[in-house]
Amino acid sequence: MEKVAQNSEKIKLATVWLAGCSGCHMSFLDLDEWLFELVKYADIVHSPIADIKEYPENVDVCLVEGAIANEENLELIHKIRKQTKFLISFGDCAVTANVPAMRNMMGSNNADTVLRRSYLELGDITPQLPKASGIVPELLEKVMPVHEVVKVDMYIPGCPPSADRIKAAITPLLEGKMPLMEGREMIKF
Ligand code: SF4
Repeated sequence: MEKVAQNSEKIKLATVWLAGCSGCHMSFLDLDEWLFELVKYADIVHSPIADIKEYPENVDVCLVEGAIANEENLELIHKIRKQTKFLISFGDCAVTANVPAMRNMMGSNNADTVLRRSYLELGDITPQLPKASGIVPELLEKVMPVHEVVKVDMYIPGCPPSADRIKAAITPLLEGKMPLMEGREMIKF
């Protein structure tokens, strides 16, 4: 089986925050002092906690938090897939679309409905649709889990996944090995 990285090399590790609440990244930070261990074996090349704006090329492993809910998410997930060897769907929003997908149940025109509710009906100071000002990306009509858009190599469910579960998933990768998850704790395809 192909190794993610050679033994002598550091893994290029990325984490990405799409349509999620950032709770999965908070759980990642719950790794606490083990993060010092992590950076011995991995360079964090992109992450909201590292504030690196552009997604780089030749990433070994990427943890993707959140669903695909807007045009920006859609464009970025295709770029991530193209530039990443091993893509992990990280947390229930990425795995099932979870909370962000609740608006799917409102049927057609749901994007317009939630925008109007949030920015016009509840906008008590200067009500205006963000589309008109160009501040936020356009919402998709259907919120999707990551695997509906691109191929996913591994799933880490949980809302959020515990730090122990994240650690168990990442540890084999740091040794240049593919993850070997047993039981129902993690799902690897
Ligand atoms: Fe937040 Fe849960 Fe979604 Fe993670 S899976 S981004 S904790 S709502």
